[in-house]
Amino acid sequence: MVNVGILGATGMVGQRFIQLLEDHPKFEITALTASQRSAGKKYQDAVTWHMDTPIPEAVEDTVVVDTDPSLVKDVEIVFSALPAGNAAVVEPKFAEAGMKVASNASAMRMEPDVPLVIPEVNPEHLDLIEIQQKRRGWDGFIVTNPNCSTIALVLTLKPIYDNFDIKRVYVSTMQAVSGAGYNGVPSMAILDNLVPFIGEEEEKMEEETLCLLGDFDGENVEPASFGLSTSCHRVPVVDGHTEAVFMEMDEEFELEDVKKSLTDFKALPQKLNLFSSPKNPIIVREEDNRPQPRMDRMREKGMAVTVGRLREDANIPNSFKYVLLGHNTIRGAAGASILNAELIAEIM
Ligand code: NAP
Repeated sequence: MVNVGILGATGMVGQRFIQLLEDHPKFEITALTASQRSAGKKYQDAVTWHMDTPIPEAVEDTVVVDTDPSLVKDVEIVFSALPAGNAAVVEPKFAEAGMKVASNASAMRMEPDVPLVIPEVNPEHLDLIEIQQKRRGWDGFIVTNPNCSTIALVLTLKPIYDNFDIKRVYVSTMQAVSGAGYNGVPSMAILDNLVPFIGEEEEKMEEETLCLLGDFDGENVEPASFGLSTSCHRVPVVDGHTEAVFMEMDEEFELEDVKKSLTDFKALPQKLNLFSSPKNPIIVREEDNRPQPRMDRMREKGMAVTVGRLREDANIPNSFKYVLLGHNTIRGAAGASILNAELIAEIM
């Protein structure tokens, strides 16, 4: 077994890591960190647990430590669920201390020598790790996954991008409250309501998407160059981000071919049969009223993205649209980092 730690273990994403790693065949949690508010407490006393399964017995009495590499002993991989500001300072210290950091935080995502990876989309970007280690003199490294709404979008864009000429994409999101963390959106602000703004989300979606689909020349990533515009909104759903996607192609296409590229999509994690990889990363539904968060977010244990309402756009030439749904704290966060770590353990 590989010893792993969770940084920010008491938060929404930290809790997901603990839930998802409970029966993991290769990774065993041996360290939990959080802020000084939680440090020194047993995990069960430090956390306000929100998962739908009990706190795993193996970590109930684990004492949470401050997020400091000198307090995290004999750990090979740390999964980071820290707030971005804190991650920017702390994650490099863990990498410098020789640990492999698989991070959810946005802090390091756009550093040119830090891979931003979805295993089904751009595993070749992991070659940046060697460049990062050389450049920074680290024995460890940092690898990041994109933000929650980007992951779900890009999983569906990948097979289309590989098989057709995308001209422009417009995306309107309806994002769950868990995406902002437990204290992120007060109930008085969201019940009976919708908030048409999520700070920095649109910028992240646009920049990260083009980077993920970009070409890696062995040293740098050249971002993809189609037009992309997003509008991000918070809705009163607990888990599961929904996105309405409108796509214009450079040339004529058959909608059936687009559908087939989505349905047939399989990539490296499926080939390697990684523990957390969904058998089908994309599930296409035919019903007019799907996907819906409550019904579809847990498909393939929360690791698949569900696509529905795939239809041609009669008013705009060479265009079509669809609705997608992905679980934001599983496929969009903790599950994404775990899949990155599984891939790294398998191929590096
Ligand atoms: P959260 O619920 O607010 O949890 C934050 C965690 O970080 C808690 O464990 C907290 O510990 C710890 N922490 C806060 N300040 C700290 C400090 N100064 N030093 C050390 N630890 C500190 O946040 P979250 O939703 O889990 O998000 C975590 C990260 O994942 C963020 O960077 C977020 O942007 C990213 N992310 C989230 C999602 C999602 O869907 N939620 C998706 C993708 C990415 P205490 O309990 O001790 O305060």
